[in-house]
Amino acid sequence: MLELNLVNLFYNRIHALKDVSLTVGEGELVALIGANGAGKSSTLRAISGMHPIKSGAITFEGQNLSQVPGHLIIDLGIAHCPEGRQVFGRLSVKENLELGAFRRRDKAALKQDEEWVYTLFPLLADRNAQAAGTLSGGEQQMLAIARALMSRPRLLLFDEPSLGLAPLIVEQIFKVIKEIKDQGRTVLLVEQNAYQALHISDRAYVLETGMVKLSGTPQELLANEEVKRAYLGG
Ligand code: ATP
Repeated sequence: MLELNLVNLFYNRIHALKDVSLTVGEGELVALIGANGAGKSSTLRAISGMHPIKSGAITFEGQNLSQVPGHLIIDLGIAHCPEGRQVFGRLSVKENLELGAFRRRDKAALKQDEEWVYTLFPLLADRNAQAAGTLSGGEQQMLAIARALMSRPRLLLFDEPSLGLAPLIVEQIFKVIKEIKDQGRTVLLVEQNAYQALHISDRAYVLETGMVKLSGTPQELLANEEVKRAYLGG
């Protein structure tokens, strides 16, 4: 479904992605793990057109994404849930969700999706008139995920959804991401929380200083001495 082939990305002279190649198959949940600054967010930014690539190719369902303007990538069925949540604080929960769906005209399906996200996150239904800025960090993360789902994406890009959240909330977030995959969506999940990410994913890639260092099934990576030492706390 998604393929990155020898992708290079720069921030001025900083070479953030070096010949990154990876694939995500339809219906897969693929994790991208690695330390701070390894290039995980940059990989997602490259896919969603938030930052141009210098060379290489990114294709989504056979279409070359570098020829698609960033603001149109959502129309292809890709939703990016960026790091730091970025919900609209003054708007209500409901209004935030509506913004996630603002390009859609399929009213019946939209209603279904609204019901689905409220089932995934019952708390958002209870608070739907509340200003998003008054929600806790975990609740805002849930809203950010719910908003991304409202565009009915086929591919979801999650950037560190567990960052800074309490353990119980982290568990809920991972459970929902697994549920989203089980509902047939495709997911590329960026996480520093390697242990949890590996437990819900089908395959994973390890990024190190802008390069793909390793890839494999969670079983392979969880058993890998290097991965254990560097990302799983020994
Ligand atoms: P983090 O978890 O900290 O976000 P990451 O693995 O997602 O880490 P990236 O954010 O992709 O890493 O950063 C890759 C490299 O690019 C790092 O060296 C980082 O300092 C640099 N970088 C990222 N964003 C910018 C920017 N806007 N301007 C300049 N350099 C940047």
